[in-house]
Amino acid sequence: MNANIEIDVGRRTFAAGLLTDLIVALRRSRPGELLALTGDDAGLGVDIEAWCRFTRNTLIETTIEAGRTRWIIRLGESHDDEDPGRALGSRLWLYTNFDCNLSCDYCCVRSSPRAPRRALGLEQVQRIAREAAELGVAEIFVTGGEPFLLDDIGEILSACALAAPTTVLTNGMLFSGPRLTTLRSLPRDRLTLQISLDSPTPELHDSHRGKGTWARAWRGIQRARSEGFRVRLAATMSSDEEVAEFRRFLDAERVDERDRVIRRVALRGAATQGLAMARADLMPEVTIRSEGVYWHPVGADDADMLVTPDIFPLAESFAAVKRAFARENQHRTGLAAIFNCA
Ligand code: SF4
Repeated sequence: MNANIEIDVGRRTFAAGLLTDLIVALRRSRPGELLALTGDDAGLGVDIEAWCRFTRNTLIETTIEAGRTRWIIRLGESHDDEDPGRALGSRLWLYTNFDCNLSCDYCCVRSSPRAPRRALGLEQVQRIAREAAELGVAEIFVTGGEPFLLDDIGEILSACALAAPTTVLTNGMLFSGPRLTTLRSLPRDRLTLQISLDSPTPELHDSHRGKGTWARAWRGIQRARSEGFRVRLAATMSSDEEVAEFRRFLDAERVDERDRVIRRVALRGAATQGLAMARADLMPEVTIRSEGVYWHPVGADDADMLVTPDIFPLAESFAAVKRAFARENQHRTGLAAIFNCA
């Protein structure tokens, strides 16, 4: 794909000159034009994605050729961003409990074995699933704490999977005994397991999540695969080096691109460092927990992300998120008009 502006990034990072080049490129460009970055470190993609999100530009293509990575960015917001109704209709997140068998040091919602269970409950999940199907939700994500701590997680996931293709986020450590029986009862064609794994070897993963957790997560991944489930690996990372190393591991393991989620630590919840994120930085993804409807799954334990305490009717809570998004945009546009330096 040809671009209007080409920048050879080499090995530069945002902290070492790239940000300046991008600002200059933005000044020379008009919305809709294409900017291509070519670099030697594929790990830079995570920062480019974050930059696009913060600056409301759109990463439309990533390709690798002869060991170099090329990112194409369309300047200006994507069509999805212009149509929040479509984006909001596509994904629905459910926080089913909040308690967890682990207490990871960067958990964005402060889950741990000491966190009180705040259960959404099977009845509410069933109603949400019914109404979500009527609203055309395309994908449901179920997260905990650790959802497999719940006795009725089988029924919860089955209800969601009936409504839309569902992904359950899990640390993968509990697939034995009755929980394995529950796992075996779930629909393979409608359910993906997203299992956390932060590094190719135990050291880094265990340093954040606890001794022995890498080995148990890896066994969980193998178990879920052997039971016929699609497994997506999700890594939470702090540096470009970690990202690059993990990508090499995923390549060696032949993990499909669609089954990889690599994200930076968010400065939310228990994290003491990471990417600071406010509502304005995140496209809303309707997120429901027992206490109400939130802007985004990152920060679903923080008051600033609460949109409304009323979950039902779901159509109304979706509308509340859309209204909040419209207000946010209006505010940003207003500020941009006032804060004009020259
Ligand atoms: S990051 Fe996941 S596994 Fe770790 S404490 Fe939070 S919910 Fe539990």
